[in-house]
Amino acid sequence: MALPRYDFHSRAGSWPEYFMTTLLKVQDITCHFDGNHVIEGLSLHMNRGDLCCLLGPSGCGKTTALRAIAGFESVVSGEIQLRGEVVSKAGYSLAPNKRRLGMVFQDYALFPHMNVRANICFGLNKKSHKEKKKISEELLELVGLGHLPGRYPHELSGGQQQRVALARALATEPDLILMDEPFSNLDVELRERLGLEVREIFRQKSIATILVTHDQHEAFALGDMVGIMNEGRIMQWDTPYNLYHEPMNRFVADFIGQGVFLNGKLLSHDTVETAIGKIKGNRAYQLPVGSAVEVLVRPDDVVSDHDSPLVGKIINKAFKGAETVYTLKLPTGDTVLSLFPSHHDHSVGDDVRIRLAVQHLVLFQKN
Ligand code: ATP
Repeated sequence: MALPRYDFHSRAGSWPEYFMTTLLKVQDITCHFDGNHVIEGLSLHMNRGDLCCLLGPSGCGKTTALRAIAGFESVVSGEIQLRGEVVSKAGYSLAPNKRRLGMVFQDYALFPHMNVRANICFGLNKKSHKEKKKISEELLELVGLGHLPGRYPHELSGGQQQRVALARALATEPDLILMDEPFSNLDVELRERLGLEVREIFRQKSIATILVTHDQHEAFALGDMVGIMNEGRIMQWDTPYNLYHEPMNRFVADFIGQGVFLNGKLLSHDTVETAIGKIKGNRAYQLPVGSAVEVLVRPDDVVSDHDSPLVGKIINKAFKGAETVYTLKLPTGDTVLSLFPSHHDHSVGDDVRIRLAVQHLVLFQKN
């Protein structure tokens, strides 16, 4: 969809100053339900226009973190600052409707008895009829629904309903929009397309976004920064590239992407010996030389090489279109995953020659 340009209404202060100011600062917050710590010491920081994702396993506290930022859950310690103002701390919570945030949820939450235009204008009570018409027309164009202002929610597809929800969240011109699994009711193709469209809209309008998702592909495709959560904490707040190639702890290394851990021994601060050869990495580890370690080996670290002495037997094959991921049993008994171009078509049971091509050495001390 070609998106029309949107005039971003300039706000107070010069442009550089405006973008450099911190929009959201969550500092060491803790949230309880019935005495159970659901969020524990969570901190994050966002500037205007940032698109961040919270990603983690079910029940790790993503929605609760978002609801605390929105003002629907109180914090028992720490504080949340929005635009430099404390909005949550122990014993104090600014009401959600005073936080000037937009929200988009999984179930769209459109008003069934209102048509598309009325849904979009819901939060614009103080505007004149003429202003509402102008804003809704602009937003309808922006989300590609200019031809459907009179339709009711039940007359729209899931993707169209989600676009209306988005337009409604944008109508009040928030500088931060919170989205909780907004695309999870949509089929894979539509969720990918709509996700990218939404990101483009937010970029045009310089709106910051926190997107909660349990879908790694979605988080990586959309987020400038992604926070990996586990048990109420952020385990790593980083770019998708760093999360994949430089995971800071074993949880993130396990949770993100595919891969296996091979046992090894640290030969020097940047070289490790494994049963299938030495791996020299791109960074030095401050562990004692000789330490027993586990080395992360991703499928793209193990490549096809006809001249290599190392052989793996294919025990599983997953065709991915452009590539195939083979699971290989090595003579040492170890198992690795290997990414082959899909025209290298082999069968389960075949032997293939492989070579380690590890660019990023990721290892953890063995307990
Ligand atoms: P999912 O991906 O499954 O939506 P999540 O990461 O968003 O999970 P939360 O919904 O934030 O997780 O829930 C975190 C924990 O808090 C869970 O153990 C959940 O059972 C608990 N919890 C959430 N809401 C409440 C509530 N209102 N009362 C009691 N416990 C709650």
